[in-house]
Amino acid sequence: EQRGAHQVEFLQAVREMFDTIEPAIAKNPQFIKWNILEQLIEPERIITFRVPWVADDGTIQVNKGFRVQFNSALGPYKGGLRFHPTVNESILKFLGFEQMFKNSLTGLPIGGGKGGADFDPKGKSDEEVMRFCQSFMTELQKYIGPLEDIPAGDIGVSGREIGYMYGQYKRLNGAQSGVLTGKPVSMNGSLARTEATGYGLVYYTEEMLKANGQSFKGQKVIVSGSGNVAIYAIEKVHEYGGTVIACSDSNGYIYDESGIDIDLLKQLKEVERKRLTDYAERKEDSSYYEGSVWDFDVDYSIALPCATQNEIDGEKASRMVKNGVYCVSEGANMPSNLDAIHVYLDNKIFYGPAKAANAGGVATSALEMAQNAQHGHWTFERVDQELQVIMKNIFKTVEETASEYDLAGNYLAGVNIASFLNVANAMIFQGIV
Ligand code: NDP
Repeated sequence: EQRGAHQVEFLQAVREMFDTIEPAIAKNPQFIKWNILEQLIEPERIITFRVPWVADDGTIQVNKGFRVQFNSALGPYKGGLRFHPTVNESILKFLGFEQMFKNSLTGLPIGGGKGGADFDPKGKSDEEVMRFCQSFMTELQKYIGPLEDIPAGDIGVSGREIGYMYGQYKRLNGAQSGVLTGKPVSMNGSLARTEATGYGLVYYTEEMLKANGQSFKGQKVIVSGSGNVAIYAIEKVHEYGGTVIACSDSNGYIYDESGIDIDLLKQLKEVERKRLTDYAERKEDSSYYEGSVWDFDVDYSIALPCATQNEIDGEKASRMVKNGVYCVSEGANMPSNLDAIHVYLDNKIFYGPAKAANAGGVATSALEMAQNAQHGHWTFERVDQELQVIMKNIFKTVEETASEYDLAGNYLAGVNIASFLNVANAMIFQGIV
């Protein structure tokens, strides 16, 4: 139990990885000698703690907080915090496991971690969110620092939450802006961090499409989710000449044949904190449907899942293929289950696994750390330029690794083998630690 035998999401992430890295192990006998697989799947440390806070009605609420410090072979632990009622140890271990490999692909000196709480920010007042964040950070601050562990945002954690957590960290430890990333720009955050995961996803996907004689131009696209990653993926697809005809939230989805109105979407989600039902009410010729957007039968060619884990199963994946999808690229972490991945592979779908395709967020977080360390700010253009280079390089590494192992075109194998080699070799260099 303790070692994760019943942790469904964690086991799924491990299986997906281990199913594809056999050729790398066959070529490198030292991995067996070092028992590297067993070392890899055990997080260096998991911290669990109580988060008590006072609701507006005076009642005392208690949530469970976590930080999984998965692997520091390549640098300090780095990875987001998720506030969502479904958060548990299995989910955070799967996210931390993915994160260590993803971070290695950026080429930047960061290890992997993940954390969060089973707190639901939805429907809470600003004051409640602030009190929760302060209580969460009062405990978490004992275990993090700019050179040890640098959390960031994830589902349910954006600029507002990061701001409150940083404020509390500062009260307890003094100003050290490098302890959290994803900070608002006015608080030493990096320009382009908000956009980075969504933009990076589209940069990566465009590279993959180009390598296969295609592009976003003129293509119909569906994006799931309508949060941070989804919004900026939609914006960049439109810049690249594609049309995003639908996006979703956890209740349903909107269909807007002429293309999602990104200004309206941002106004509703980022400013007013409203739902997609409001989009359909305000935008003519758009419609709202309940259920999963991946069950929607319409002609489209590119799918960008940007909501959450396991949103696509084998059935939904087959449906996508029937609807004309030839490219699936993941903004969310592990949005496709193992059956869905088999459907992609069987149908020769151009597949961008999350570890590579959504690495732009953490890469830009590392650029935020660099700016904080030099007490400076880079322009939006500079950060965006670096992000583009990083995403292109990741695709190149993936493509080359797949070819090197005689698996040309199998981008899943390319991603998993390249990132496994990065982490495993760094661990071996350091001996048993
Ligand atoms: P947000 O909280 O901003 O948005 C999440 C979106 O996904 C919302 O539209 C939400 O709908 C939907 N969603 C969440 N949970 C579920 C669920 N159980 N079923 C259906 N829909 C759901 O989060 P982000 O955009 O930051 O994160 C989205 C994904 O991208 C996650 O997998 C995250 O780990 C990953 N990611 C994020 C990065 C970042 O920089 N933010 C970096 C790399 C990966 P609703 O509003 O109804 O809850």
